[in-house]
Amino acid sequence: MLDFEGVLLAGLAEDGGLYVPETWPQISTRDIAAMAGRPYAEVAARVMRPFIGAALEADAFTEIVRESYAGFAHRAVAPLRQLGDGEWLLELFHGPTFAFKDLALQLLGRLFDHVLAKRKAALTIVVATSGDTGSAAIEACRGRGALRIFVLHPKGRVSEVQRRQMTTVAEDNVHNLAIEGTFDDCQALVKAMFDDADFRRKHRLSAMNSMNWARVMAQTVYYFSAAVALGAPARKVAFSVPTGNFGDVYAGYAAARMGLPIAQLIVATNRNDILARFFENGEYRLAPVAPTMSPSMDIQISSNFERLLFDLYDGDAKEVRKRMGDLHAKDGFEVGHNQFKAVRAAFDAASVDEESTLAAIASEWRDAGLLVDPHTAVGIAAGRARRKSESAPLVCLATAHPAKFPDAVERATGQRPEPPRALAEIMAREERYEVLPNDLASVQSYLAARC
Ligand SMILES: *Cc1c(COP(=O)(O)O)cnc(C)c1O
Repeated sequence: MLDFEGVLLAGLAEDGGLYVPETWPQISTRDIAAMAGRPYAEVAARVMRPFIGAALEADAFTEIVRESYAGFAHRAVAPLRQLGDGEWLLELFHGPTFAFKDLALQLLGRLFDHVLAKRKAALTIVVATSGDTGSAAIEACRGRGALRIFVLHPKGRVSEVQRRQMTTVAEDNVHNLAIEGTFDDCQALVKAMFDDADFRRKHRLSAMNSMNWARVMAQTVYYFSAAVALGAPARKVAFSVPTGNFGDVYAGYAAARMGLPIAQLIVATNRNDILARFFENGEYRLAPVAPTMSPSMDIQISSNFERLLFDLYDGDAKEVRKRMGDLHAKDGFEVGHNQFKAVRAAFDAASVDEESTLAAIASEWRDAGLLVDPHTAVGIAAGRARRKSESAPLVCLATAHPAKFPDAVERATGQRPEPPRALAEIMAREERYEVLPNDLASVQSYLAARC
């Protein structure tokens, strides 16, 4: 067992497992009702407070939360927009990098910095990215005295917008490495650096990826704010969540465990459908990753899935370890009858192919005059396919601004989305990055020379 500060800074547990709370804090019906009409930052502080424990003073925490969301381009932080009859879009792309990861990482960067400054310590954040995570992590760390960040991206394999969002940041605690390899190579390099215990300790490596518990915690907040805006706790609300790593939809599950009345949680995947298949038949089985228009969900090993398993097996770590072992040794595992029943009660799921994704983008443009990005479109299509009851409003999570994925949007609608000003500006700014071979020793010596 570890306190909040320890969990925040460690990211991964020493044994390679993931942290989860010992018990789920409960938020009462009365407290949920009292969130109605309150600013996002206030709801956020209320929802997350029980997880923080004694790690931070209440006032300091409230102030950090306020600052985290003050820079968002929309006053509501995560506004709802009506799509159709009883259908809503939850816009999670008003942060500095125009994707939903900002909602967690803007807070994480500040929490890390605060806790480290108190300890007079510094950490080295190392991240592998296929696109969105890198820029969100850089925005979270830039200019923070207690942090330096190294981001590895596969050279020539991220979009120009995504690369520029990372490489045009001028602060000298930010280091971009273009690796001559694939995203998997980048991830393997990061993992190898963490597995090298001496190197990890000497350079004080830490992670900000979706395995970090604090990210899940921060993502529970918008489930509360959206549900309350649509009538919770008196009315149940359904959510459709585009996901790959099972991070975002697991946060919805956490919100439900904390007392939020959720009618349905719909797991929306693209054609990389390991999660959708699992919710269909109880078998979690790896398949090759296929590239899609929604690249942030082109994932087979969903890291947060292990947290769900832990809950399904009532915290029996042995049962979880056995299945994670089978995943690595035999490319898959099954859950028992009772666990599958519990899963079916908590989640619905659908996989959406490329054609249906384009069709969903096109129909939103035609029917609502709205451009949506391909990740969001996967959520809308899955939500409509799996919605069970007309009486519960359906909230589809919009995880990226359409201008981040202009080619797919244009292909579906003939319209090229107008980039927000901040996104247009980076196209003219100078880039800074180092090209390195796919070689552990080269990457390690680059880091060692700079931290
Ligand atoms: C990261 C990301 C997702 C998937 O999030 P999970 O953590 O896998 O649930 C979906 N859409 C966008 C735009 C993303 O950047």
